[in-house]
Amino acid sequence: MPTTLKDLAGSAPHGGALELRIAGPEELETLRSEAAGLPTIEAKARRVLSDLELLAVGAVSPNRGFMTQADYISVVEDMRLDNGLPWSLPITLSATDEEVAALEVGKRAAIVHEGKPVAVIDIEDIYDYDPKREAELTYGTTDDGHPGVAYLYSQSPHYVGGEVTVLENVFAHEFRDYRLTPKQLRDKIGANDWKTVVAFQTRNPIHRAHEYLTKCALEITDGLVIHPLVGGTKGDDIPADVRMLCYDVLMKDYYPRDRVLLSVFPAAMRYAGPREAIWHALLRKNYGMTHFIVGRDHAGVGDYYGTYEAQEMFDRFEPGELGIEPLKFEHSFWCNKCEGMASGKTCPHTKEDHVFLSGTQVRQMLTDGIEPPQEFTRPEVARILIDAAQKQPS
Ligand code: ADP
Repeated sequence: MPTTLKDLAGSAPHGGALELRIAGPEELETLRSEAAGLPTIEAKARRVLSDLELLAVGAVSPNRGFMTQADYISVVEDMRLDNGLPWSLPITLSATDEEVAALEVGKRAAIVHEGKPVAVIDIEDIYDYDPKREAELTYGTTDDGHPGVAYLYSQSPHYVGGEVTVLENVFAHEFRDYRLTPKQLRDKIGANDWKTVVAFQTRNPIHRAHEYLTKCALEITDGLVIHPLVGGTKGDDIPADVRMLCYDVLMKDYYPRDRVLLSVFPAAMRYAGPREAIWHALLRKNYGMTHFIVGRDHAGVGDYYGTYEAQEMFDRFEPGELGIEPLKFEHSFWCNKCEGMASGKTCPHTKEDHVFLSGTQVRQMLTDGIEPPQEFTRPEVARILIDAAQKQPS
């Protein structure tokens, strides 16, 4: 039976419960001193620290750590955890030859960042993997021009799997007021008595098309959470601190305060398109959302994915199996003849009537201090972006 808005009200975490992997105050000191004597695995990339935060707060429930080989293979090959639950992207910890030499299955290791232990891992598995196979299946390409694939190829060829206990969230100070955990966001949603809540994932400033999608979605849900990704993004994406200023002005002047929340999503961007759309949705389910916006080329990069491939990926699962409902949107734009926002689905006019600017065009305008038309982006947002672009060293 297809799921309905009502059926999904108050969605449960994926797998049934939030798995919080942050050390409690009573065990923190003991674990810290234990960690000082353990073999170490360096958190070599920002993504590892972001993954640890996701694990700490239960955002990747039911996962309790970095994947063992059984889960890893099942996820890469079949988009399911070993227990059959849908899961689209691996969560992995790579270790070098030297690190692996000091590790033992059944024992503990410390995950360290800048010489300090940030987590401990109870090692269940140490295994080698095939980067090309992982690239092909999860990213749909083996081309190292793809940023996710390049990251994958930069890792050492061993993964260490096992449950983690996080000692410190390295990024806790960033956007502190907006860094709501799944539990905190669920509490807010409950306090607002929203039965249906739609999440908006973005790694960009909110332009008019994004605003349009969010408002269309809010027409059929009780609440909207603007949930920008603030973990690592590629170098030419607009930095999260600049984006937060943009979201703030929109929150102030263009969104109804009683129906919209702004909270950050600490994950790192993978640019895995269709598979990342599923991952984004499942994590938002853990944050308490019932609906998830999927527009054109969700989480895509370059031309690796088809415009609606991410939307189609949701159809590979049985209705209700993901436990969060995708709200699919066609490519949206301002139409001069419609005199408003529209999409390929709702607008009868031709391209000549549509306001379209490519990412490159927008970047150039901002660097040159030119405001993009207000049909493309709100002037308040344009001014913040111009300010930021002009401050950047050329
Ligand atoms: P992401 O890389 O996660 O897709 P974006 O900020 O590029 O982040 O997009 C956020 C969401 O808005 C995605 O679901 C994307 O598909 C959708 N989207 C962005 N621009 C448009 C547009 N012009 N028309 C329809 N959907 C869009």
